[in-house]
Amino acid sequence: MFKETIREIREELAASGLELDELTVARLAKVIEGASSPEERMRGLFDALGMRGLDDATIAQVTSLAGEAESGEAFVDAIFIGACPHCGSEEARSGESEPAIEDPTVGLCPACGWIWCSECESKLTREQPHCSNPQCWLQQGGEEDTEGQEPEP
Ligand SMILES: [Zn+2]
Ligand SMILES: [Zn+2]
Repeated sequence: MFKETIREIREELAASGLELDELTVARLAKVIEGASSPEERMRGLFDALGMRGLDDATIAQVTSLAGEAESGEAFVDAIFIGACPHCGSEEARSGESEPAIEDPTVGLCPACGWIWCSECESKLTREQPHCSNPQCWLQQGGEEDTEGQEPEP
């Protein structure tokens, strides 16, 4: 059930045309961690995502996910990384804090060691941990604003 919930939410995000850059993911983690109540977390989450008009069922799913996550980072991992596409483990996390990878869009599975693109699920390796699938949106939107990102306040 938990895995299906994550899958549905990720599909919902994808259907809304949501493009997540590293800044957005980092901002999400911060918003979620700083919130004092589940409702506040959800409001912060959807504001950060620029999403409006989600149905009640989706919001309820996301809210229950947030309640189960141990930290903002774990919550963001649950939504954006999801379960391991190889073994199905829900312990999968993002590669953001992995020294050799440092990429929040890369999924890592501690159970089986699988490494993949969290967007298109292409298999990656520690030697080449960045998606090179030309169909993947990570390859399409990234060229426009590689500079000029403002520092965090
Ligand atoms: Zn796995
Ligand atoms: Zn990809």
